[in-house]
Amino acid sequence: MAHLSNPLLGLTLEELTSIALESGQPAYRGQQMFDAVYRQRMESLEEVSTLPRDYRAHLSESGWRIGIPLIDRKFVSGDSTIRYLLKLADSETVETIWMPDGDGGESGDGSEAGNELESDATAPLPDRWRRATICVSSQVGCAVNCRFCFTALLGVKRNLEAGEIVGQIAAVLRDQAVEPLLRRVNLVFMGMGEPFLNYDNFMKAVRLLVQGVGIPESRMTVSTAGIVPRIHDFGREAVRPKLAISLNASNDPLRSEVMPLNRKWNLAELMRAAREFPLRARERLTFEYVLLVGVNDRPEHARELAELVRGMRAKVNLIALNPGSELPYQTPEEERVAAFQRTLIAAGIPAFVRRPRGRDIFAACGQLKRTVEIAPAV
Ligand code: SAH
Repeated sequence: MAHLSNPLLGLTLEELTSIALESGQPAYRGQQMFDAVYRQRMESLEEVSTLPRDYRAHLSESGWRIGIPLIDRKFVSGDSTIRYLLKLADSETVETIWMPDGDGGESGDGSEAGNELESDATAPLPDRWRRATICVSSQVGCAVNCRFCFTALLGVKRNLEAGEIVGQIAAVLRDQAVEPLLRRVNLVFMGMGEPFLNYDNFMKAVRLLVQGVGIPESRMTVSTAGIVPRIHDFGREAVRPKLAISLNASNDPLRSEVMPLNRKWNLAELMRAAREFPLRARERLTFEYVLLVGVNDRPEHARELAELVRGMRAKVNLIALNPGSELPYQTPEEERVAAFQRTLIAAGIPAFVRRPRGRDIFAACGQLKRTVEIAPAV
């Protein structure tokens, strides 16, 4: 293992406070470390000038470091999406996506939460985005074998620690020089991996992001492929993001074909968990549905989907397949996607089409497989 030292990133205020107390420091040193790590997102202990110099030295001699992931590569799309390849302490890499101006606005990216005044109206050009969304990974690779997703081809290497999840956001905010207390930043846990198969680390990261970084939970959305027991657990959390469920098919045979996970938790169980999910005031569930030509994109599928979702406080986000040569599916034409959307809307189901972001740099949904064989940005 290449872990030569321990990261402070990922520790709670209580944990940081006990580190301070154990070395005879006053308890408020814990808060100072917490602020340095999460609020100021400092990169190294030397920068933390709120701590006495000799205590900083003591911390590093005892093997502590901050632990923000390194930016290994950075790819910039023609639509201004940026794909970051971040390197972790053991040299594994994960991808994190920066999307100025959300992911198309409508759609489970947290952008519709509240109607607060946009706080960045005075931001200097050229970065006058109204909001930005960071798409965060939860595992190195993924263990869920969705047939249309590239990340599945990697298999799962390991879970990310809470600090590695928060660290992605810290690294990107630093690189973009963005302060989420002043600018509107949404988080979607929709990158590599299945967050609900790394539940405890994911939830710890959420609490640190709310309490430490200062991003409200109402601006976060987590997407699951349908790990039903964790959906029940998630509903009981005091602090939690909004929930999106990757449905992707309107009946069991079809869903088991495109998402073999459906054989473990079928649509009846999944939809029961979704219906029982305790929504907060004005909150809606999101269902994602990736359209695959000739497989799940016919009018009868739209009608079947409408019946599944009927009566729920929910919306459907349609995603045209982001294509790739290793995948046995094709991307539908825009008109076919629009027709599917119209059928849903006619059946009374709110439906949105998600604009693909960063397809040219392999940053779009389902494309995250740590591609490096395209020119990185300079
Ligand atoms: N594992 C979680 C989090 C990833 S979210 C989940 O499955 O929900 C990634 C989203 O992208 C999912 O809704 C998934 O259905 C979708 N997706 C996967 N592969 C895709 C592809 N090739 N094109 C478009 N969307 C895809």
